[in-house]
Amino acid sequence: MRRENGFRLICIVLWLARVDHTGSRTIPRPETNEIMEDETGIGSVLKAFRKQLRKEDPEVTPALIEGDIAASQPILFSLWRLGLRWDIFPTRKWENATIPYHISHLYNPQEYEIIMTAIHLLSFGTCLRFVPYDGQADYLLFWPKEPEGCWSYVGKKGGQQVVALQRPTLKSKKCFTGPGRAVHEIMHALGLFHEHARRDRDEYITVLKDNVIPNFLHNFEKLSLENTTYPYKYDYHSVMHYGPSFFSKGGKTIKAKKNGVFLGQRVGLSITDCLKINDLYGCLEKSDFERKKYETLCAVLGFT
Ligand SMILES: [Zn+2]
Repeated sequence: MRRENGFRLICIVLWLARVDHTGSRTIPRPETNEIMEDETGIGSVLKAFRKQLRKEDPEVTPALIEGDIAASQPILFSLWRLGLRWDIFPTRKWENATIPYHISHLYNPQEYEIIMTAIHLLSFGTCLRFVPYDGQADYLLFWPKEPEGCWSYVGKKGGQQVVALQRPTLKSKKCFTGPGRAVHEIMHALGLFHEHARRDRDEYITVLKDNVIPNFLHNFEKLSLENTTYPYKYDYHSVMHYGPSFFSKGGKTIKAKKNGVFLGQRVGLSITDCLKINDLYGCLEKSDFERKKYETLCAVLGFT
């Protein structure tokens, strides 16, 4: 009799463990040791350039567009500005500012916490809602394995969308120096580009092309075809700005025209990063109250 009760208890516990505590449905879990087939062929691109970048930052080792951006249609990048233009790419926007996500079970608890910190930072300062994956068609999958490095797509790709965050090794913390790298890659997935790719960047930085590994010069091109003035000033403090030595064969590749600024911080959001996301997802337009609320939160959360 006791044995039967014990068995019953185990069954109940196992059943409860599979149930969403907000309801009675079973949550589908995209647990996997392999990602879905990748139409970008990222793996083969990586192999071609990895030797040259072996000692580089994990954000540039994928050797994708601008180092860490994956794209199935690279030509479209020539039409993108600092943030994706929703009038041209409406399907790349996360509907209702809601982003389903799943963190791979291959991360350990510390790594999981760092990713969650990045998600909380982005949720707290904006009207974005990150919701745990619950069977939605489109969702972010935080993924630690091959193709390695820290990389992401720009905007919503559709279906299972990898945000690659390579786990620490014995020699390097890789994408887990803090929440900043996760914030950076999530911001790509939200539709944001690198700060140094702005049309007006030459007023603020000097790109030292002679110091760039020749195969990677394209990473320093200005991508916009339009003379657009982005609604925010050039942001040296952006988590989306390249560091001073990215893709270097020796010496600096980017130098600020202003003295005393640090480029390439990967600690967290700058004030402008935070405002840009709010702007891109319409959070500031809802009402005066909402605008003030998010402006205040960004000022509290962000670097200057
Ligand atoms: Zn990037």
